[in-house]
Amino acid sequence: MKIFTMCMECQKELGHPSFEPIVTDYYEEALAFIECSRGHKSALLLQSQKFEILLESAANALIEGYTLEAASSLSSAYERFFEFAINVFCKKSKVSKESIDETFKQVSKQSERQVGAFLFLHLLIFGKHYTLSKKIPELRNRIIHQGYIPTPDEVIRLGELIYQEILAITNLLSSELSSEIQQVVMETVQVRNEKIPNEVPRATTTGTMFFSLAIANQKETFHEALSSYTESREKLFGSVPYLRFFSKAVAIYTKLKGNV
Ligand SMILES: [Zn+2]
Repeated sequence: MKIFTMCMECQKELGHPSFEPIVTDYYEEALAFIECSRGHKSALLLQSQKFEILLESAANALIEGYTLEAASSLSSAYERFFEFAINVFCKKSKVSKESIDETFKQVSKQSERQVGAFLFLHLLIFGKHYTLSKKIPELRNRIIHQGYIPTPDEVIRLGELIYQEILAITNLLSSELSSEIQQVVMETVQVRNEKIPNEVPRATTTGTMFFSLAIANQKETFHEALSSYTESREKLFGSVPYLRFFSKAVAIYTKLKGNV
């Protein structure tokens, strides 16, 4: 996965951004280790939940024409979303992280168990049942089957169903359990933060752009989210050569100013 950033250490030192664009990779731990041209080494910590990262991964794969990978990321995002929702529900019931982790271990390998846990926790917390989309497993099983390579339209259809389900539940959780969502996000940040060596300076970012819990209003449909993300991605990555040029000009100007 890739993320666009600038060096925060330069910003601290110069009192303004260096404008040097840095496009860096991150993986499972959602941590990017960067080094700017002025030699600062630092870490960038994403606060995104796993399902948000997987949704963005699906969007990237789809934009680049890798439909099989996009469908697979969508399917994983859907599964990881239930894990997130279960965590939010458990925060409402003030269950410790250790107890959640111990329990989750026993359902982690079977996504159907996780969906079952979600449905019953929803029933307990809200006092009413939640009806899951029946179309998702049907379409998902058809697409994600023995290396079948789906068309972009098939992936978009699956993406739309999964996006609508995630959006509906996110809206419900955001309106009823916003403080619990914050607690889950803070816990994620804390766990990731502990993985950065003590001496490395760090900055936190909200992370993903395709779908982000940090944004109050998500796009209404997968199609809309994909168009908006495609546009932002083009602008951001398209700006890299200009920013590189601009950052060099800023560096020369700062140096000259220092010599006056
Ligand atoms: Zn720097």
